[in-house]
Amino acid sequence: MKKHNFYAGPSILPQYTIKNTAEAVLNFAGTGLSLMEVSHRSKEFVAVMDEAQALVKELLDVPAGYHVLFLGGGASSQFFMLPYNLLQNKAAYLNTGTWAAKAIKEAKLVGEVVEVASSKDSNYNYIPKGYEVPADADYFHITTNNTIFGTQIKEDLDLGVRLVADMSSDIFSRPVDVSKYDVIYGGAQKNLAPSGVAFVIVREDALGKVERTLPSMVDYRTHIDKGSMFNTPPCVPVYAALQTLKWLKEKGGLAAMEKINIEKAAVLYDEIDRNKMFVPTVPNEADRSLMNVCFVMSDEYKELEKDFFTFATERGMVGIKGHRSVGGFRASTYNAMPKESIQALADAMKEFEAKL
Ligand SMILES: *Cc1c(COP(=O)(O)O)cnc(C)c1O
Repeated sequence: MKKHNFYAGPSILPQYTIKNTAEAVLNFAGTGLSLMEVSHRSKEFVAVMDEAQALVKELLDVPAGYHVLFLGGGASSQFFMLPYNLLQNKAAYLNTGTWAAKAIKEAKLVGEVVEVASSKDSNYNYIPKGYEVPADADYFHITTNNTIFGTQIKEDLDLGVRLVADMSSDIFSRPVDVSKYDVIYGGAQKNLAPSGVAFVIVREDALGKVERTLPSMVDYRTHIDKGSMFNTPPCVPVYAALQTLKWLKEKGGLAAMEKINIEKAAVLYDEIDRNKMFVPTVPNEADRSLMNVCFVMSDEYKELEKDFFTFATERGMVGIKGHRSVGGFRASTYNAMPKESIQALADAMKEFEAKL
């Protein structure tokens, strides 16, 4: 039976990425050696790192004056690296979920943090609006896609303050105006590569403004100066990321991706809205994530949650259980998710309702 992979992360990757990486694990760039046993300083691997950084710049149309890094430690290490490098006076944060809250917790260890707004009062089921960001904040940190709660900020905010964004789960899902951001970062395992690598896009002019002395590994400057090769990078995940970047380019780039992602998410949201057995967890349509579609059984059918899970599993759906802090279901619809799989889930929801 065909499996439809709705896991939230690590999550579905293009077959192109998986096949090419598997081949390179056996024989990397004609070296006759495995990608796993070749020096990161070899000319073959240096070419991989260079091309991956160049393709990130090309796909996101990154302006001059920015650096692209591939680092270990996941997005979670960026929660502290970022404030150590950028927070001198104070930083503003928007609390839109578990990951945002973790970023805030870490930044507070470094300096003054203002939480400008939070949707915690409503289990993070909306994106706060109408807040003010202190004009003297060094940066304003947002989480563009809230993987656990299924909300998303789909545009590049204009608030008169430099933006910093955790884009772990929606990077490369739409074009981004990078010029508005000082740093864009994320773990690769949602929309780019297997786990083990984080991407960081950092503006040169945002650096050098803090007084503290940083350990080498924490300092963005170290990694910029060494082209992400200060220490051994996660070679296999970086290779896989390069394959996904090539795949994205071949698919027509990020504008094409965004169009497909809007269509894909609509198939599920339309079915959730139509089907009397299900309700979306995010009431405001504009706040609903195109990457993580979260829904629960409507009150009347609450007791059928397990039954639907079994029903969907029997039809090949994998990873649709909602995060424990939300419950119900979560269908992650990242770039690599084919429309057929989304349709298969929507059809399963229809059939389940018809069975009644
Ligand atoms: C998964 C996730 C993280 C954590 O990523 P790690 O690489 O596991 O540290 C952070 N932020 C968001 C938005 C995520 O989805």
